[in-house]
Amino acid sequence: MERMADSFTGLVERLPIIKEMQQEKEIVWINPDKTDFERSMEGSELTMADVEDAEARLKRFAPFIMRCFPETEDRGGLIESALTPIPGMQKYLNRKYGSGLKGTLLLKQDSHLAIAGSVKARGGIYEVLKHTEDLAFRHGILKKEDNYARLADQEARDFFKEYTIQVGSTGNLGMSIGIMSAAIGYRVIVHMSADAKQWKKDLLRAHGVTVLEYESDYSGAVENGRKQSEQDPKSYFVDDESSRTLFLGYAVAAGRLSAQLQELNISVDKEHPLFVYIPCGVGGAPGGISFGLKQIYRDQVHCFFAEPTQAPCMALGMITGLHQRISVQDIGLTGRTHADGLAVGRPSGFVGGVMKPMLSGEFTVRDAKLYDYMRDLLEAEHIFLEPSACAALQGPVCFEKSEKIQNYVEENDLRERMEQATHIVWATGGSLVPEEIREEYQQTYLD
Ligand SMILES: *Cc1c(COP(=O)(O)O)cnc(C)c1O
Repeated sequence: MERMADSFTGLVERLPIIKEMQQEKEIVWINPDKTDFERSMEGSELTMADVEDAEARLKRFAPFIMRCFPETEDRGGLIESALTPIPGMQKYLNRKYGSGLKGTLLLKQDSHLAIAGSVKARGGIYEVLKHTEDLAFRHGILKKEDNYARLADQEARDFFKEYTIQVGSTGNLGMSIGIMSAAIGYRVIVHMSADAKQWKKDLLRAHGVTVLEYESDYSGAVENGRKQSEQDPKSYFVDDESSRTLFLGYAVAAGRLSAQLQELNISVDKEHPLFVYIPCGVGGAPGGISFGLKQIYRDQVHCFFAEPTQAPCMALGMITGLHQRISVQDIGLTGRTHADGLAVGRPSGFVGGVMKPMLSGEFTVRDAKLYDYMRDLLEAEHIFLEPSACAALQGPVCFEKSEKIQNYVEENDLRERMEQATHIVWATGGSLVPEEIREEYQQTYLD
């Protein structure tokens, strides 16, 4: 363990759970600041109208997306994933870990989203499209009523190639932004942190994207990217740490999920609570999705984030109330994890603020377990996820055994309703992982 920054030593005495995190122990944390939905929205800068605006924009772009990415034709140009019951996994987890989870277990397969193969196909792509629309409107090359498919014409591409998009990334965000920006015709520069996997950099370069590599962690890559972008008036920086646009792109998932639950004849109401488990890095993806779900299901949905024990930045920010003013390095953790998508040392202060009255709690999980869960899901359901995405499975595995969760169930008057509950594991990435890397992952056993 590295030494803790002196200014934070007092925290450990005040908050014993920080000591456990410092010792790399897995924790379950219930958010004491969660309020009812109505109060949580008081003074919120974002509302349901903003989510609907994002949804409408994605619909306008659907003809363009369908033209550039024919694999989206099935869904009419919407980038959406399946919601899949995984009863085999539920039984498997019970047999292997004695999880005893009641109710129905589902997998939201953002791991298989078109174009980027991860949850970043929501927020990342949405932000590129929003910026594209802004630019195109401003320069009179597109009107709201137009068929956006024309953005794929050479004339439009010639316009966009004068502009640059830049982003800092641990890998997946760079892939979603890089691929979509290249499709529109932009110049793209992705600033990759040290955790980024080689195959993700290779794939981007094959799309003509400039990939700059840094020794530093995610925050360092973002800082450099932001600085470089500021020097070029025709460059736009996608700021994952504070972007409202990105957040709203993620939030659109909720309305789509609600239609899928209806198709499966699954109710969500007072008698049928919904629990959602989402892997968390800087917070945008799980925060945006949770915000959207809260708008629809209000107090009937219970949102939990999952993070690696070495990089529990959102949990640390929420528990201490310091949000972006504290990093996992400040309590002596390295921030290094096999879960590259979650390798973030400092959380988004914006997301922390929005989630403070909404989030139900957090789980942290050791890297070794991510590979176990990955093999479990392959064995039980023949579905492959990348290790980061498997963090979400910590929720269903620990739910019944955690005293803190059981108190939460009690306090929220859910005890009698757990047989009718639905649990959704948000699978955030995996379909683009090359075969040889999948095999390597399957042979990876950590202590
Ligand atoms: C980025 C990512 C997340 C978390 O998203 P944040 O917005 O960074 O919190 C989760 N899983 C995977 C696979 C990711 O790539």
